[in-house]
Amino acid sequence: MILPKNSQKVEAVIVVNDYKSFKEAREKLSGSVGFVPTMGALHEGHIGLIKRAVDENETVVVSIFVNPTQFLEGEDLDKYPKKDLADIEICKRAGVDIVFMPTIDSIYSKDELKIEAPKIRGFILEGAKRSGHFDGVLQIVMKLFNIVSPTNSYFGKKDAQQLALITQMKNDYFLDTNIVPCEIVRDSSGLALSSRNVYLDTQEYKRALSLSRALKEASLMIGNKEFSVDKIEDTMYEIVEPNIDKLDYIAVVDREFNMVDEVEINNTIILVAAFIGTTRLIDNIWI
Ligand code: AMP
Repeated sequence: MILPKNSQKVEAVIVVNDYKSFKEAREKLSGSVGFVPTMGALHEGHIGLIKRAVDENETVVVSIFVNPTQFLEGEDLDKYPKKDLADIEICKRAGVDIVFMPTIDSIYSKDELKIEAPKIRGFILEGAKRSGHFDGVLQIVMKLFNIVSPTNSYFGKKDAQQLALITQMKNDYFLDTNIVPCEIVRDSSGLALSSRNVYLDTQEYKRALSLSRALKEASLMIGNKEFSVDKIEDTMYEIVEPNIDKLDYIAVVDREFNMVDEVEINNTIILVAAFIGTTRLIDNIWI
């Protein structure tokens, strides 16, 4: 394969750092393109998405970009883990064809046009606690969709509200990519994998397990035909509250992200967001 300028070949993977070079590489591709957008520090959760993309597409593109516009003032943008070489190696082993690692300057211009998250679904839960976060997420995902032109785009259910908003953006803006939701990957103790888990010390890690424990208990209650959201939330609160430093929310919504009073099988998501020390973790289960 002829490599575009500003690119290097790391065994089977092409790594590109700007839009023009990516386009050069993209134009040479035929057949379906699977796309996995990430912020790097790749773990088994990301690898699950990548493997599925590799199984389902002729070519796979992974983007690695710590997007500044989705971080709020005081959040962990400056200390967000960066592992570029290890990430490229992981992509290579997983069968990725192109890793797109753009610089900030090649992605953003000054005074640019913005995308706003929808007024209701974009401003509850994560949107209420992280005001402006989803504007930044939708902005970068729109840019990446336009650059990559993916046939299929892979997102984790771990970021359930993000997935719902990206699906809405696809529908509202008639974007030509299939959104493929992927299952949450957990470690052997149940903790949902996250690039931010590296911030947890041993004690914090143990306390963090209360989030997935509470979600598991909720699913057991539902298995025993307890559908009352009040009762489920009370039980989850009892499990989580003694272990965490600050609760952002425990919530039960339908797949459209409307709050509900009763669990409906196959149409419910139970979510939790909390701080363990200074680390903010989110988790959920789809019922
Ligand atoms: P991030 O790098 O955190 O922006 O995540 C990139 C993509 O990986 C998003 O679609 C996430 O939802 C997904 N993801 C992150 N962690 C997990 C996980 N534990 N299980 C499944 N998907 C995940």
